[in-house]
Parts: sequence; structure tokens; C-alpha cells
Amino acid sequence: MIPQNPRELNYSKVKTYRECPYLYKLKYTEGRKEGLTPATSLGVSIHRTLDDYHSHSSDPGEIMRYYNANFLCAGFGGAGEQMEYYLKGQRMLKIYEQREHERKSAVDATEREFMFDYEGWTIRGKIDRIDRLEDDSWEVIDYKTDAQLEENYDITSSLQLGVYSIGARRAWNLKKGKATVYFVALDKKISAGFDSFNEREILDIFTAAGEAIEARKFAPDTKHCPRCLMNNRCPYSSVKRQEAA
Ligand code: SF4
Repeated sequence: MIPQNPRELNYSKVKTYRECPYLYKLKYTEGRKEGLTPATSLGVSIHRTLDDYHSHSSDPGEIMRYYNANFLCAGFGGAGEQMEYYLKGQRMLKIYEQREHERKSAVDATEREFMFDYEGWTIRGKIDRIDRLEDDSWEVIDYKTDAQLEENYDITSSLQLGVYSIGARRAWNLKKGKATVYFVALDKKISAGFDSFNEREILDIFTAAGEAIEARKFAPDTKHCPRCLMNNRCPYSSVKRQEAA
């Protein structure tokens, strides 16, 4: 799979390149798929459920119906594990349902794409949810379904939320607003104003990754191997080498 526009960047590409350039090569130039794990499978199910619900309903009581229609039965080791994750998702969405009854903002869009040009690069992204707040400002929201939150998590150092803030301002002209990470499993939101992010630094990170990709610098970075979903197939995997020793 060769990218159609080699000068097009998005957060996933840049994140992958920064984790390990060789992983980028496997995924984006050779089209290798990482496959689903129980956690990523549940993440897909929750994202699809919330997109479907907000696109078609304003009745929080219907969320579980959308969950049952969108639950992905792939990536699990067996029926027991599948049920365990189904129930985890159900617990998350029950709390989401309660929050929906309290919500004062209006959901303007879900899974909305932005695109803007910067120094010869096209930067794209897709944001899980965009809300209009009561004071007429905007909130761009990224759902996270993992149940762990780093100690001292600092949203302003998030490349993902940073580029979403820039995209919302540059592509959609949303002048006033905030970016939010919504840890659905923890029922916790962390936000920062659009102008809390260092725009120049974020865009420089994007273009530096783009230039390295263009120069085909794909050396493996084995620091990421323990968390890499390709580590059982990659010839450079430090994890596999340790297991074989
Ligand atoms: S296993 Fe390690 S070296 Fe191989 S792609 Fe993944 S992170 Fe890179």
C-alpha cells in the first residue's frame, strides 16, 4: 500500500514514525496490518457506537442498542475473553449514558475530517466529536478507551490533541475553544484551550517526520518493541530475540 499523496501527514503516521521508523515502513509502505487485540477491538466498538449514536439519536437510552449493533467480535482469544471485554464496554457506556443526560453542549459533528496545508505538506485528521458549548465556543473531543491514565498527564504535550486544535482553527476557523481527551473508561475529561498548544513546535514535528519519511529513513528503533503489535513478525524485534535466547 503506497500512500496516494506522499506529502500528506496525519497524527497516526507521525506517531508511528516517531515510535519506530521501521514500523512505519511495515505499515505505510508495505501495507502490513497490525491486527486487533482485545483492547483495540473494544476501542473500535466504542468509537463506532458513539459515532452511530450521536449521528442518529439523541436518546441516551438507545446507546446500548447501538453498542450491541457495533460490538466487534474479533481480536479475542475465546468466548470468555470476548464476554469480559463486552462487559467492560457496557460499563463504560452505562456511565456515558448518565453523562449524556447531564450534557449541556450540543454535539455538532462526529468523526469529522479536517485538512490544511503547511509548508508544502497536507495535514489531515479526523476528530471523534465536536461540541458547541453554551458560551458559543467549541470543544474538540478525542475518546480514549484504555483504563489507565499516566500520572501527571499533560494534555498540552499531546501531539494528537495539539494537531486537532490546529486543525480546528485552520481548517474550520473555530477561533475560540478547547481540546479534550475523554477517558471514557475512567469517566474523566482533561481539556486545554486551543491556544495552550505550541503550534510551531507541533507543526515542526510533523514536517520533520515527513522529511525523514521522504528520505526513506526507516531504521528500526527497538525501544518500542515491547509495545509493538508487529513484534512477533519483525526481524529486528528485541522482544522476539530475548524470547528466543
Ligand atoms: S518490533 Fe521493534 S523494530 Fe520491529 S517494527 Fe516493531 S518497534 Fe520496530
